[in-house]
Amino acid sequence: MANQLKSSASGLVGQGGQTHSGIRQKLQEIAWLILAAGLYYLAALTGMQLFALKPSNITLLWLASGIGMVMCMRHGLLAFPFILIASFCANYPGMLEAHRLSPKLYTLISATADAMTGVVAMLMMRLSLPEGLRKSTDLLHFGIKVCLIPTMLSSLIISLNMAVGGYIHWDEAGNFFRMLVLADSLGILLIYPLYQAWRDDHEWRSSEVQRLVLTSLGIGVLLYLAFRGHPGFIYFVLPVLLLLAFYISLNLMTLAMTASMVAIIAITGQQLGPFQSVNLVEANFMLVCFVCTTTFTIMAVALHNRQLLTIEAARQEWQKAAEVDELTKLVNRAAFLPMLADEHHRAKRLGRTYALALLDIDHFKKVNDVYGHQAGDEVLAHFASLMQSNTRGIDKAARLGGDEFAVLFPESNAMDAAAAMERLRLRLENNPVHVAGVNIYVTSSIGITEYQGGDVTPDMVRTRADQLLYSAKHAGRNRIMFDAVTDEAG
Ligand code: GH3
Ligand code: MG
Repeated sequence: MANQLKSSASGLVGQGGQTHSGIRQKLQEIAWLILAAGLYYLAALTGMQLFALKPSNITLLWLASGIGMVMCMRHGLLAFPFILIASFCANYPGMLEAHRLSPKLYTLISATADAMTGVVAMLMMRLSLPEGLRKSTDLLHFGIKVCLIPTMLSSLIISLNMAVGGYIHWDEAGNFFRMLVLADSLGILLIYPLYQAWRDDHEWRSSEVQRLVLTSLGIGVLLYLAFRGHPGFIYFVLPVLLLLAFYISLNLMTLAMTASMVAIIAITGQQLGPFQSVNLVEANFMLVCFVCTTTFTIMAVALHNRQLLTIEAARQEWQKAAEVDELTKLVNRAAFLPMLADEHHRAKRLGRTYALALLDIDHFKKVNDVYGHQAGDEVLAHFASLMQSNTRGIDKAARLGGDEFAVLFPESNAMDAAAAMERLRLRLENNPVHVAGVNIYVTSSIGITEYQGGDVTPDMVRTRADQLLYSAKHAGRNRIMFDAVTDEAG
């Protein structure tokens, strides 16, 4: 009974603790959302001031839409009211200044549409790209479903709202809609990849940062020249960023790209640079199209490059796994035979010698029979580690299969190899393997041959070493037999 009471009391404590941590988590979530809403507000103000071409005051870049989407990606529908309030606060002063009827109502409708952009973009992302933006081919879905569709919906509502409220003329509504769609889409296109890249991978190397800094300086010079009377220089920003995509990680790349695109738009907002024309609307359109296409192209290359790097890393890992024996961590037969062939051809070409040792544990079947397969495995691992500690760094030890091993001794003769193998033989003989409180003693027979040049094949060298190993077994085991293989011997 006492025990029962105790356990139910601890259950209560457990529940209380859980509720407590649940509340703390919720508070953290809300604190994060308040911060993000503050950022949204600042991005919206910047959108209206820094990124808006005077005198039209239509924004060219609405980074707030990307921030709203990230808020929804992290906190779902809970983000909606925060975006709505941030958008309302940012837009209301301007709407009030326009001296139209019911500015609160029209601002509220626009702010609701802004918050809707984030929610719809988040839903589209989860539906069509649940793994995130991973491959260059994902950009098609991302561009249409995540950037265009949500921003078209909200821009339609905002444009109609502004026209009905008398904030813009009906004949301006079409252009207003087009610019809103592009500015909002660009916001998502620049912010979401940045968020994803930084969430996935926070690490970067100092060499990458150096490249980024140097390239940023280069881009700074290009932008300066482009906006100071040599507009053509703006087009070099694209190849510079494209090349950078091959040398730095995706997270730094998205940072460089977003910063460059934001800089181009901010400078254009100050009525500088190549994107000026008598027809302001078309000039704005041209700039936003340039930034969109540049961003898409760079993202496609950067994602494709990361894909290739991931595939290459996986290939190398698989290749390594395929070449290494899991139990002893030595290279296996499939990897060893090409090594032997390479060394053979190298020695033949340069007129050098090399030695090959084949080793086989004596009466190994008995170890398995008496102590079990597991103990047999430990003996094999012990044998492999002795092989490695008794050979040089340039020698290549391998497990050919079962209890059969090999060592390739480059630049050596049979005597050198025999000396190393004799050390191994003695250590093996005198150092038992401890398995489950038992000492297991094993010995090994070894056949060694030396390649001394001439028209001999790697297979002939291997056959000779095998014959010597067989002789060692027949002569009573636990011994080494060695000689040299030459044309005559073959
Ligand atoms: P010999 O002195 O003539 O070499 O006698 P032996 O008993 O060692 O005979 P052999 O080399 O033919 O036996 C090899 C044995 O190694 C047969 C097989 O059951 C065992 N074996 C092969 N692979 C493994 C393994 O991965 N783990 C264990 N524990 N045993 C293995
Ligand atoms: Mg054996």
